Amino acid sequence: MTATDHGSTPTTAERVISFDLDGTLINGPFARVLTDLSEELARRHQADGVKREIIRRHERLLGTDLLAAYDWQSIVSDYLDELGLVAPFDLLERLDQYAVEGATTILHDGTADLLGALRSAGWRVLVLTNGWRRYQEPVLRRSGLLAAIDGIVTSDDVGEAKPAESIFAAARAGATDYVHVGDRIDHDVIGGNAAGARTVLLRPDIPADPAELPAYLARLATAQGVPNPDPSLASPDLVTSSLSDLVDRLTHPSPADLSELSSPLGQLSSDNSAPGAR
Ligand SMILES: [Mg+2]
Repeated sequence: MTATDHGSTPTTAERVISFDLDGTLINGPFARVLTDLSEELARRHQADGVKREIIRRHERLLGTDLLAAYDWQSIVSDYLDELGLVAPFDLLERLDQYAVEGATTILHDGTADLLGALRSAGWRVLVLTNGWRRYQEPVLRRSGLLAAIDGIVTSDDVGEAKPAESIFAAARAGATDYVHVGDRIDHDVIGGNAAGARTVLLRPDIPADPAELPAYLARLATAQGVPNPDPSLASPDLVTSSLSDLVDRLTHPSPADLSELSSPLGQLSSDNSAPGAR
């Protein structure tokens, strides 16, 4: 239930920040693994649309069984069983091969240094992901980011996926000050707010003009399957396209300010913060 530590084991941290992984810190190579699988099965067995069907099954599970939606090996093997086919390669081996080859896109320049700056400022830095550990940890390791963080919390570690409160509680581990950062309104912002975190929506496509934010957030919520979210839960404390902007805000205020949970907006709000954010 707790994050895995790398390096020295910290005492209970007063300040914890957790980052969603895919779409927030990286774009991993797993989609390429599914493309390979689909293409090889088409070539060998004339099986059409394997990747499309696997994604469809994943998306269907997102609405019914969030934890199982990220069990890619089971989704793939169940489907191939139905087709009477066998996977032509091991999914995890292919994923690791791509990760070794540098197929992981790190979304923000200087990510490892920025996470290091947070750690130097006293933040315990975690990755909190619905992806299962077996898929996420190798990608983090090969990208060099595993060494830049204090640990990973995955849905299969905890037995529930975001937005469940339990997975945020596992990351927070009793810390006084807790910030969660992600790219999804439904999983990261709503889940994080409900669990008592200060939340940050970090996405590369955040509009520069604050006047465009309300419409942008409404479109994003609809696209992510929560068209009419409760505004008290769906409003992030900060909306930004820049990891370095976020790190600046968390490392430059005085330590006294940082522990001031009662006025979170004072720390994370900005000219481009979400209107109506708590
Ligand atoms: Mg994400």
